[in-house]
Amino acid sequence: MDSWPIGVFASVDAGLGVAWDVIAELKLPTIQLHAPHANKRSRSDAESFRSQLDQMGVQCTAVFGGFEGESYADIPTVVKTVGLVPPSSRESRLQEMLEIANFSKWLGCDTVALHLGFIPHDPSVDGYAEVVQVTQKLCDHCGDQDQYLHLETGQETADGLLEFIQQVGRENLKINFDPANMILYGTGEPIEALERVGHHVRSVHCKDGTWSEQPGETWGAEVPLGQGDVGMEKYLRTLHKIGYLGPLTIEREIPQDPERQKSEIGQAIDLLTDLRSKILG
Ligand code: MG
Repeated sequence: MDSWPIGVFASVDAGLGVAWDVIAELKLPTIQLHAPHANKRSRSDAESFRSQLDQMGVQCTAVFGGFEGESYADIPTVVKTVGLVPPSSRESRLQEMLEIANFSKWLGCDTVALHLGFIPHDPSVDGYAEVVQVTQKLCDHCGDQDQYLHLETGQETADGLLEFIQQVGRENLKINFDPANMILYGTGEPIEALERVGHHVRSVHCKDGTWSEQPGETWGAEVPLGQGDVGMEKYLRTLHKIGYLGPLTIEREIPQDPERQKSEIGQAIDLLTDLRSKILG
């Protein structure tokens, strides 16, 4: 694969990505896929999606898990509902992630990813060890089938994430770096964070956002790529500096307005194409 192939976050039947039938129109070499609903994750479903992607000439570079009952309504709701952190749903969501890893394997994809949820910042607090253990179980299942597990960034500071990765202690645990999330959640300046965690980064999102007036308490705003506070040229130059040459996956979370989503993704493709030739030559 060429350096920095451009991609888009896509979805079969659910989630926040572009719709399945839009993938071919965009003519991009890669996608990340939001895992389909449970009734579309069989081996034959995966093999059918795989042959459709082959026909379109598209490689799926990561499958993202997500769960019923998750809500990104506001930051306190994310703490209560997202990922493998809430204890009451942890075991059933782990089982679901194992299924999603299998689906991903059948799809021919070596990477599974998720928002793990709000990991406590202090390893000595109640509940931290359990989140480490569930992550180890998921990593080990993925490792048995030569897959990586990527943690989406945003809910942790760079230091919190480094500490957590060290506590889990699994070679196949990596990072999907999303610079906009660091701004939206108010967890830190993304370029600085990228330099700190760069050695763990194995996939990235290209997304932009603006800081909230109360970072960490209320959301910042997601905006079209290049119009926010990330600084796309600096972001790509920093990715280059840390040696990241994998896919640049555009994520634009406005599925309620598919026409606007498609047009903004088109602009994002143009921006990334220009910056890529400027930086890589
Ligand atoms: Mg993201």
